[in-house]
Amino acid sequence: MSPHVPKTEVDDLLHEDRVFEPPLVFKNNANVKDHSLYKQAQKNRVMFWEQCAKRLHWSKPWSKALQWDKPFAKWFVGGKLNASYNCLDRHIKANFGKKTAILWEGENGDERKLTYEEVYLEVNKLANAIKVLGINKGDRVAIYLPMVPEAVFAMLACSRIGAVHTVVFGGFSAEALKDRINDAQAKLLITADGGYRRGSAVALKATADAALLHTPSIQDTIVVKRTGAEVAMKEGRDHWYHDVVRHVPNYCQPEEMDSEDLLFILYTSGTTGKPKGIVHTTGGYLTGVNSTTHWVFDLKPSDVFWCTADVGWVTGHSYIVYGPMSNAATQVIYEGAPDHPQRDRFWKIIEKYKVSIFYTAPTAIRAFMKWGDEWPAGSDLSSLRLLGSVGEPINPEAWMWYYEQIGRHRCPVVDTWWQTETGAIMITTLPGLSAMKPGSAGVPLPGVDAQILNEQGEVIAHGGGFLSLTSPWPSMLRGIWRDPERYQQTYWGKWEGKSYFAGDGTKRDQDGYFWFLGRVDDIMLVAGHNISTAEVESALVDNHMVAEAAVVGVRDDIKGQAIAAFVILKEGHKRGQETEEVLKNHVATKIGAIARPSRVIFTADVPKTRSGKIMRRLLRDVAEGRMLGDVTTLADPAVVALLKDKYDEA
Ligand code: ATP
Ligand code: MG
Repeated sequence: MSPHVPKTEVDDLLHEDRVFEPPLVFKNNANVKDHSLYKQAQKNRVMFWEQCAKRLHWSKPWSKALQWDKPFAKWFVGGKLNASYNCLDRHIKANFGKKTAILWEGENGDERKLTYEEVYLEVNKLANAIKVLGINKGDRVAIYLPMVPEAVFAMLACSRIGAVHTVVFGGFSAEALKDRINDAQAKLLITADGGYRRGSAVALKATADAALLHTPSIQDTIVVKRTGAEVAMKEGRDHWYHDVVRHVPNYCQPEEMDSEDLLFILYTSGTTGKPKGIVHTTGGYLTGVNSTTHWVFDLKPSDVFWCTADVGWVTGHSYIVYGPMSNAATQVIYEGAPDHPQRDRFWKIIEKYKVSIFYTAPTAIRAFMKWGDEWPAGSDLSSLRLLGSVGEPINPEAWMWYYEQIGRHRCPVVDTWWQTETGAIMITTLPGLSAMKPGSAGVPLPGVDAQILNEQGEVIAHGGGFLSLTSPWPSMLRGIWRDPERYQQTYWGKWEGKSYFAGDGTKRDQDGYFWFLGRVDDIMLVAGHNISTAEVESALVDNHMVAEAAVVGVRDDIKGQAIAAFVILKEGHKRGQETEEVLKNHVATKIGAIARPSRVIFTADVPKTRSGKIMRRLLRDVAEGRMLGDVTTLADPAVVALLKDKYDEA
């Protein structure tokens, strides 16, 4: 199916009238209080990014800020630095060694508190241990761990010696792990005996062992003891973490890395298809995540930051490890599920550690809404001062709930748009500066050139089209691992190499705010009108009975496409014809008759990626009776089978 122009036919977007100003106290103390950054960037974008890069420690300055051989960028050419040095050594040199870096909580209640000095020691020892196993600069190391501090140590140990890490989400199958190891040709795997999730121990090492039957590049593994479960250790290949770090020196000289040396490879979530091995390099990436953490999260020395993403996703890379740690943040890392032992676990963690900045995903927010207001209401959330969202468009209703029930009207909400490919946040409001509009991510950050283009690549000032990043930025991907052709084709093919194609449908309003309408592949064409998935889903979620909705266009003889809505009701609401009519009418009233769904399918769940994003392409496959596309990143295969039955019988 060729993507339609994601121009919405609906001019008055849901709730576009709702605008919230940041609270005055926040404004007065914000890291970014005025528009000077935007102005500087506008004057000279490259020089602006050079100023940002100077927030880092470079062992040798760059000779040229940007070399742009479209679509291949090099930033800070000739500059030398080390990522782990920037996240650890320089803080210790600046006397922050005793500052808490990580407040870790296991799902089973275990606790670990680590200062920067302690993390530094762990990272140095592990770096030496990895070197002893023969890993050199440029070698790939796969990391397959639960959310334990060792995941952070492992990433920083790799970057310390110049090894390239590729982190694989701990919930992935043996198959998915095997594919990523083989694609990256990793020599070493760092894993664990297991981790805790929803009260049980997940047997990580057993899954890794299954993968390792088909990964000839792997020479060694390092195994963290987390659960104490019995595991098979293969002689000569498998080594316990606590053994390898025992007899190594406490200091490992950080490798002097070129700005353009690889830092990591990370595979995308797979929402729209087969995951891509996104390549990031050192200097530009670190510049992007370091500055955006400072601006967007308004990080102060006294803050307790908590990003709930897994380190297996780019959000974990950029806003647990490299962004916060290069800013000497104190942060919470939690191992387990949000509903264990009860549905207030997150709120209890915020209360206990006095979390001040909280960053999570719409999928989690919608789950919290579904569970009911009583869970957050029972906890003291007064330490919070800023909330963030990432991963999908946040429905205005979910935004309001987050603002009211979690932020209690006191905390700005930053809805941050970015991608694995962009490395760092690209579009958002700044919390102490810009007004917020529920459902809109906001405006491009300083130094980011984002435009909405039409099919021909012409700029659309107001209205809908394809999101494009029109100038290179430091943290941009440098390619797809070992597949330059796919890189060119996927991101630069649309407008003959002129501009970066993000794959998202977007609309810009009169104030220049960007509204994300859904993936370009998912936009629906009903009787000649483009209808955005995000808008119809938001209209459904706007109804008090609906917890979550996913809509897709299904082939229709008359209209071209008809809208099928998969709907999850909140607890206590009845499915059936009556509810179906109410919901169809609700959408028709909110958006217009053209957007009225033809079918509503009630379901307990919709297919999601392991990172929690709705996979509409699978819903389309179900609705049109096709074989399912790539399912390797699907969280729960049973969901699709159930839906198939439901769809056919309805
Ligand atoms: P794949 O590229 O393999 O299909 P993916 O696009 O889900 O996977 P990610 O890089 O994790 O992989 O996700 C980036 C995408 O997530 C964006 O392109 C966008 O569609 C969506 N997204 C992220 N944040 C937001 C946001 N704040 N508002 C709207 N959409 C968002
Ligand atoms: Mg993508």
